[in-house]
Amino acid sequence: MAKIENERQVVRSNVDVVLCDIFREITQRKERGQVAAYIPELADVDIESFGLAVVDAGGKVAAVGEADTPFSIQSISKVFTLTLALGRFGDRIWERVGREPSGNSFNSIVQLEFDRGIPRNPFINAGALVVTDLILSGHEPREALGEILSFVRGITADSSIRIDETVVASEQRAGFRNAALANFMKSFGVLVHPVEHVLGVYFHHCAIAMSCRQLAKAGRFLAHLGRDPSTNLMVVQSERARRINSLMLTCGHYNGSGEFAYRVGLPGKSGVGGGILAIVPNVASIAVWSPGLDVNGNSQLGRVALEMLTTRMGWSIFGNFQ
Ligand code: GLN
Repeated sequence: MAKIENERQVVRSNVDVVLCDIFREITQRKERGQVAAYIPELADVDIESFGLAVVDAGGKVAAVGEADTPFSIQSISKVFTLTLALGRFGDRIWERVGREPSGNSFNSIVQLEFDRGIPRNPFINAGALVVTDLILSGHEPREALGEILSFVRGITADSSIRIDETVVASEQRAGFRNAALANFMKSFGVLVHPVEHVLGVYFHHCAIAMSCRQLAKAGRFLAHLGRDPSTNLMVVQSERARRINSLMLTCGHYNGSGEFAYRVGLPGKSGVGGGILAIVPNVASIAVWSPGLDVNGNSQLGRVALEMLTTRMGWSIFGNFQ
């Protein structure tokens, strides 16, 4: 028993040391990618920002940088909406959205035409719009949004989490591509609710603002087979948690998913706000934030930081060496 405790202690201090090293190395990097200029409000975020938080199985948090600064989680919210939709509709959701990696950009229209209005997976924008449409079933938009926000606040035990209305307004004004995707799917009968309702709820859930610390907490149920270890409550069935992780691995970084799996070796979900949520099954939940994006719209230094972390800690779903 004492030996196990000692080993835990070693792992723990390792995480702290590794995080400090990563922070030092990342802050010196010059190549940071580009902030997401297509959502005007996100273009104003300081590209030098960087935060990283790791929550281990016992609930201890290790964090560096701006780990308590809220940022726009954007597409990371799609993990939470997928979890909710699976909880409500189960496998029936797969009648309206696929489970295959897209190999295309997150807002591709060409692909949707090719697939006759059925999005490839729930993490590209079209797929997330379908998931939002499902959550709207039997609800007014305000109620659907309330359900999503309550879920996120519930799994973090943090009622301070808010939606950034200026980001919503920014995306409402500039969201022509998403409007095109939604209208296109509506023409195929894939969306049931009015396009304005679906887009409204979607823009709002993308504009949820969370810090790395809050986001890492929110991912804990995925790291622990559907159970939130802090409350011992099942958030989602074990099998579903595993499957959400598998989708994060194969589709969570759009056309950068292969590179992310190769370099980081974990299920992860990115957002154009520069955040990434990554899961080390049975071990930890990780959130990183660096607003500069690579060509695929994924956080450039966020991915680099996660690669350093998993390499140095020996964390990978393809073989742990710790
Ligand atoms: N709200 C963004 C959009 O719809 C989300 C994209 C992302 O984070 N990849 O374009």
